[in-house]
Amino acid sequence: MNFADYPIKTLMDITARPEMVFVRGEGSWLWDNAGKRYLDFVQGWAVNALGHSPRCIVDALAAQAPLLITPSPAFYNEPSLKLAELLTRASCFDRVFFTNSGAEANEGAIKLARKWGRRHRGGAFEIITTVNSFHGRTIATMSASGKPGWDTMFAPQVPGFPKAVFNDLASVEALITGQTVAVMLEPVQGEGGVNCATPEFMRGLRALCDRHGLLLICDEVQTGIGRLGTLFGYQHYGVEPDIMTLGKGIGGGVPLAGLLAKEHASVFEHGEQGGTYNGNPLMTAVGLAVVQEVMKPEFLAQVRALGDYLATQLGALSAALDLGPERGIGLLRALELKRDIGAAVVTTARDGLTGRPGWDRTGLLLNSPRPSLLRFMPALNLTTAEIDLMIDGLRAAIELQP
Ligand SMILES: *Cc1c(COP(=O)(O)O)cnc(C)c1O
Repeated sequence: MNFADYPIKTLMDITARPEMVFVRGEGSWLWDNAGKRYLDFVQGWAVNALGHSPRCIVDALAAQAPLLITPSPAFYNEPSLKLAELLTRASCFDRVFFTNSGAEANEGAIKLARKWGRRHRGGAFEIITTVNSFHGRTIATMSASGKPGWDTMFAPQVPGFPKAVFNDLASVEALITGQTVAVMLEPVQGEGGVNCATPEFMRGLRALCDRHGLLLICDEVQTGIGRLGTLFGYQHYGVEPDIMTLGKGIGGGVPLAGLLAKEHASVFEHGEQGGTYNGNPLMTAVGLAVVQEVMKPEFLAQVRALGDYLATQLGALSAALDLGPERGIGLLRALELKRDIGAAVVTTARDGLTGRPGWDRTGLLLNSPRPSLLRFMPALNLTTAEIDLMIDGLRAAIELQP
């Protein structure tokens, strides 16, 4: 079908979308309506942990759909129990509440911390978050986010989210008052540009929270489920949070997310939390298949090896083209371009490589979260050949800039 024949105007125009419609995906590849293929280093924004339409997800959906899709969250179902059991066994947490999006999981974490504050800290409700953080697009999670401009968009904000500076422990400590109940952060700020917490900062935060009797909340919507080469990002740092949220990778592409807490922080009482689709067996069956795959022996070692390989290749490209440093952990990486050509490189990589050797009717999907930065969030099970091809396309796209 031609792009012009699609009813494009029937969708709300919420972002500048390129003029193509994706119709098929497989592993690291996507195909559009015109039959052009794309090497995908965006993967639904770090969502498709196992690439597009992996066998285990197709099989899980096919097996679960005829059995049971939604009995209501007020009843138990088998896949959600199995997935909760697997997640608690593999982590430091005791309880799970499944949600449908990362923002909803973070909303739950905020509610849980406020409830805990009412019970244990005399009604304290403030949650210290960080500048440049991203926690979601609901009103409360936008208020928690430290994204520039979000404090005035849809004002007034939800109060109670003072912002500290990421990797600056003193700036966190300076914000602690009698009203503080928790500190919440991403171990690696994803949307903020792949800013990695230092081990000292994470360890310092844990000690600070212990000293002041506060909860430590890790938003692992982007860093969880193998992205950093450990099953959960906090394991990379050797620090245990009290509450963690998961999203993106846990569903491998379907809407599934979760709120996990240690027993002492699991303070919801009946009627305080819920949701129509929460923990439905169709999505949790998929989550079970994804997490089982990521927990297979050698899978995470392979992610670390691929992350090292990607880092080395990005470093070599940077040296060859006089770009800035690369950074990241595992397969969440970024490259500084030194110039504000990020958006132009994304467009050229997607639309402008056709005709170059190896890129006939082929494009490359990249992401530029800041004007001079590229972010790489490929499938966790991609191949080194796909990394080599991406580097080749990226080099061409950068060299084509004026
Ligand atoms: C994507 C993201 C969210 C929001 O998840 P949604 O599923 O889009 O609501 C929250 N926190 C972090 C760290 C994210 O990367």
